[in-house]
Amino acid sequence: MPPVPPSHRQFASDNYAGIAPEALAAMQEANLGHAPGYGDDPWTAEAADLLRGLFQTDCDVYFAFNGTAANSLALAAMTQSYHSVLCHETAHVETDECGAPEFFSNGTKVLTMPGEGGKVTPDGIRHLVEKRSDIHYPKPRVVSITQATEQGTVYALEEVRAVGAAARALGLRVHMDGARFANAVAALGCSPAEVTWQAGVDVLCFGGTKNGMAVGEAVVFFDRALSEEFAYRCKQAGQLASKMRFLAAPWVGMLRRGAWLRHAAQANAMAALLHARLRAAPGVRALRAPQANSVFVELAPGLGDALRARGWRFYDFIAGAGSRLMCAWDTTPEDVEALVADVAALAPPR
Ligand SMILES: *Cc1c(COP(=O)(O)O)cnc(C)c1O
Repeated sequence: MPPVPPSHRQFASDNYAGIAPEALAAMQEANLGHAPGYGDDPWTAEAADLLRGLFQTDCDVYFAFNGTAANSLALAAMTQSYHSVLCHETAHVETDECGAPEFFSNGTKVLTMPGEGGKVTPDGIRHLVEKRSDIHYPKPRVVSITQATEQGTVYALEEVRAVGAAARALGLRVHMDGARFANAVAALGCSPAEVTWQAGVDVLCFGGTKNGMAVGEAVVFFDRALSEEFAYRCKQAGQLASKMRFLAAPWVGMLRRGAWLRHAAQANAMAALLHARLRAAPGVRALRAPQANSVFVELAPGLGDALRARGWRFYDFIAGAGSRLMCAWDTTPEDVEALVADVAALAPPR
């Protein structure tokens, strides 16, 4: 068998994918001529307006280079150093940001809870808040939820509302890590407003990178009081882009005609197809039906190595068990069939 060509689309992460045509075209348009720096340009204004239109509310919008910065700076804006942020034990802010949320907030502690499918629950929140009320415990201030989760699940509208209500009742704010928010919205079929501020979310970090941008995440403050002096945080953290229009223009390209949602729906559909095909394939146990754009599977002994030797790339033990196969905005049915064919060819005899 010839090896998988290096240019082949992979299933390791949605950040393996390139730039979506709508995002690239907008960057090229923004590249014509000069424009003011540091966000004082028409592209940044239009991107923020399009986000306000999308969310049907007068939110405050900032752009950061990546998700770690967006999450960390958003959480820092929501807390004091003696506060705590409650999240799931497999949350990106806890496991994959190198302590940046604590660093940028000058020591705010991240407290974790278990929960099925990578989701926090109202009971888990109440438990972390009510188990201590003394001065020696970092005061719970924010609940952070990831939508879609690190485990590929999606909080149902009701679940976000329940988290929002529990947080409100306990005097907590709600942050949403939306690195894959587009995939979640595509999966739920609800409006972006319904699953964010209308459900109790105060700040959303809306991911662009994994949905087809070169770089860039939007920090959306539904509670505008929380964004006070946020521009200074961005600047100090090295997140104020000098040529901001190149962070903002891709959002314009993706939001203008709904490409953000179409691309996310494509990634989700390919995950559903991959799951269906792998369920019937030898040597594979599919762990859970995908809700967004990732498929978690257990591979028969040796099969993972054999697939990697063929050139396939994917991660093991992300957020727990098995191997993770992630679909991107540009994944095609042919890519899925190519992987499934290699799985079938390389699986150990039953
Ligand atoms: C990818 C990702 C991020 C952002 O990561 P960066 O590498 O900092 O851009 C944040 N949260 C989740 C859940 C992610 O998967």
